[in-house]
Amino acid sequence: MKAKRSNDIVYNIVRSRRATADVVIERDGRVLVRAPDSLSDERIEDLVEAKLSWIYKNLAEWRDLNATRVLREYRNGEGFLYLGRSYRLLLIGEQKEPLLLKNGRFCLQRDLVDEGAIEATKAAFRDYYIARGSERISQRVNYYAPKVGVSPRDINVRELGNRWASCSPNGNLAFHWKCMMAPQTIIDYIVVHELCHFHYLDHTDAFWNEVDKVIPNYRERKEWLRKNGAGLDV
Ligand SMILES: [Zn+2]
Repeated sequence: MKAKRSNDIVYNIVRSRRATADVVIERDGRVLVRAPDSLSDERIEDLVEAKLSWIYKNLAEWRDLNATRVLREYRNGEGFLYLGRSYRLLLIGEQKEPLLLKNGRFCLQRDLVDEGAIEATKAAFRDYYIARGSERISQRVNYYAPKVGVSPRDINVRELGNRWASCSPNGNLAFHWKCMMAPQTIIDYIVVHELCHFHYLDHTDAFWNEVDKVIPNYRERKEWLRKNGAGLDV
């Protein structure tokens, strides 16, 4: 991958064995050109020039959607989401575990914050969501898999970058730990969406038809995720 600049747009190029080129705005707001191996840098520059107004429009939309993005301070009283509900943070002097959800509060070891260990604090949240998610999301997968008519092998909750979930050809499922910040109904949508990819890898009408069979109001949940997904962070 390499970065190029056209007007004031900085974009990355990823080449692969695809037939045509396109431009996408990634979830983190970066502009990505996906191009065939054979396409020259000059042709790609032409493509970006031709799509400039589209890119500006979509970047503006991305900024709107990400206005809710979280800039986090780990202070007493800060709200953190768990299954769609906000729980206030309480810094605790004496606590064995880095982070606990207890009596309606996220209880965090005060030392982590005092030492300014932002990464360690983030890791405490991430580990918490991974531990809880491994149980709950597995339950939801086991509940929905027979309804979708598939049998996944392994279920993993972890860091997944820009994706909410992924499935591998050998039947392994992975979910982003941030899913655990969303309401249960949204987690269910993400689970069913991913299970339906066992039938169809792409997002064709046939694919959405499978999702619709299990979650008839999936469009609302999909839209919720599009609008609020960026706000799910620690
Ligand atoms: Zn999908």
